[in-house]
Amino acid sequence: MTRHVVTFHYTLRDPSGRVLDTSAGGDPIVYLEGAGQIIDGLDEQLRGVAAGTKTRVQVPAARAYGDHDPAQVQQVRRAQLPVDGELKVGDQFQAGADRFAPVVTVVAIDGDKVTLDANHPLAGTDLTFDVEIVAVRAATGEEIQHGHAHGRDGHGHCH
Ligand code: ZN
Repeated sequence: MTRHVVTFHYTLRDPSGRVLDTSAGGDPIVYLEGAGQIIDGLDEQLRGVAAGTKTRVQVPAARAYGDHDPAQVQQVRRAQLPVDGELKVGDQFQAGADRFAPVVTVVAIDGDKVTLDANHPLAGTDLTFDVEIVAVRAATGEEIQHGHAHGRDGHGHCH
């Protein structure tokens, strides 16, 4: 089965129609199909598209950033947090010194008690992508081996 490298522009909206992200005005996204470079639900629904296609793709939360997991929400004491200065709802920081520590979001503050949510900020959100396919080509053997797109229209890196 031929795998493809797809170049596309997108605008991402939440169910209320609010724009969360867009590539408009910047570089398009380039990815190798089935390599986990974009969220699974979008990758799957763009299989077989042709260059020039404009389409709307709905991706349920479970196929995007996952369902919201209540077990990832916990309350801690303010003094336990590695944050100096003022703290407010919506602040995000890494929950530990390790650079791979999860990013947590402050969702509530009640005196000395702070509620943190370690879910991805888009967990539990159904996503709508308005997509314009810029280019589609067959992936090279090297790209398939590396598991990502290469070249002028790729992310430019090579090892
Ligand atoms: Zn590579």
